[in-house]
Amino acid sequence: MKLVFATNNLNKLKEVQEMLSSSIEIVSLKDINCFDEVDETEPTLEGNAKLKADYITENFGYNCFADDTGLEVESLDGKPGVYSARFAGEPANSEHNMQKLLTDLEDNKNRKAQFRTAVCLNLDNKQYLFEGVCKGDILKEKQGEKGFGYDPIFKPAGFSESFAEMKSEEKNKISHRGIAIQQLVAFLKENYS
Ligand code: IMP
Repeated sequence: MKLVFATNNLNKLKEVQEMLSSSIEIVSLKDINCFDEVDETEPTLEGNAKLKADYITENFGYNCFADDTGLEVESLDGKPGVYSARFAGEPANSEHNMQKLLTDLEDNKNRKAQFRTAVCLNLDNKQYLFEGVCKGDILKEKQGEKGFGYDPIFKPAGFSESFAEMKSEEKNKISHRGIAIQQLVAFLKENYS
């Protein structure tokens, strides 16, 4: 089965491809010649995931899934949340975002945070939502070189390494997106294999 993942982010495509069986062929936006930018204008992760999946299904006619992720920091009332990509302003910059978060949390003892991913799947005229959460802590400084985004400053609960120190296979098993995609994959296997 061919399914569009509404992204051109190579990190994400690689993560998802590693988790899927070969019976499901994932194609990117570039693969379907979609070069449009869909603005993430909704106030929730679920709303943005739906916005992106619906854009592809409505304009290109494909079955499609889209994701949206936010880093929710307990002592910042869940911020940056849906605004994680542009936390330090435009244009989006991971280094600036991490520095802002480290500064905002400087003297704060409560460093609890969670990554949360919402996935919206449009399949044969029906819509399904999946969610994945990964709880952890914001480190005091960056650790590790792998991964992307906030990975160097996020340590998942029960581990001594940051996401940026983990191999991608290790991270996929426990990450927010990994969990949401595992649910999507389980659903697809149960209903479409
Ligand atoms: P998006 O919804 O995947 O575009 O992600 C929103 C923001 O969260 C961006 O700043 C990403 O860099 C960040 N982000 C998403 N997933 C991860 C992750 O697995 N690790 C670190 N940062 C992430």
